[in-house]
Amino acid sequence: LSRLTVEELKSWVRVTAARIAERADELTELDAAIGDADHGANMRRGMAAVVKAIDAANGVDGAPALTTIDALLKKTGMTLVSSVGGASGPLYGSFFMRMGASQAGATELGATELSDAFDAGVAGIVARGKARAGEKTMLDAWYPALEALRAQGDDLVAATAAAASAAAEGREATKPMIATKGRASYLGERSQGHIDPGAASTAIILGALADVVAG
Ligand code: ADP
Ligand code: MG
Ligand code: MG
Repeated sequence: LSRLTVEELKSWVRVTAARIAERADELTELDAAIGDADHGANMRRGMAAVVKAIDAANGVDGAPALTTIDALLKKTGMTLVSSVGGASGPLYGSFFMRMGASQAGATELGATELSDAFDAGVAGIVARGKARAGEKTMLDAWYPALEALRAQGDDLVAATAAAASAAAEGREATKPMIATKGRASYLGERSQGHIDPGAASTAIILGALADVVAG
């Protein structure tokens, strides 16, 4: 694949939902160590609601079809905001809504547009959560992924693969960090030695994209 179409972005969302469901227990265990043990359940419920909303918009109930990137990602983000109670709902919701809004009207994304769209999405996470790099949040998976994506230039397969491995490394790198944002920050130094659950779900999201793009 050299360009991502709306259909391929739908596949990304579906593959993400399936993998989050498969790995929900793992995400919940990570959250049990430094949070309130609901990240897996939150993400599984949210992504299942997104898949349902996309299916409904495919004409099943007469809802308008999602024919642009903006429409698809706006639906995705709004569904996450309304179906996930935890912090991750509004954060990922902002990500998808801003990502979509940055590509208003477009029906395809190349590597450069994908980088721009992810930058916009991550700016949405920052606008919502006010965290910075190194605070042991999902941003510590997103930032290295953005950098890797940019560094690969035009090759969408290489770029998304690099972003996925950078996110996985970013997830591991949260382990020694002390959380200063979100629920995990209540633990202070006791948050050290555990992977951040949101960084782990971000790595799943980017792994799913790399696999969809690789075909
Ligand atoms: P809650 O903490 O409300 O139970 P979740 O467990 O679903 O919500 O999500 C927790 C994850 O959200 C954390 O692991 C972290 O990655 C992310 N997070 C929390 N607060 C912030 C923030 N201010 N900025 C970015 N990410 C955050
Ligand atoms: Mg939680
Ligand atoms: Mg919670």
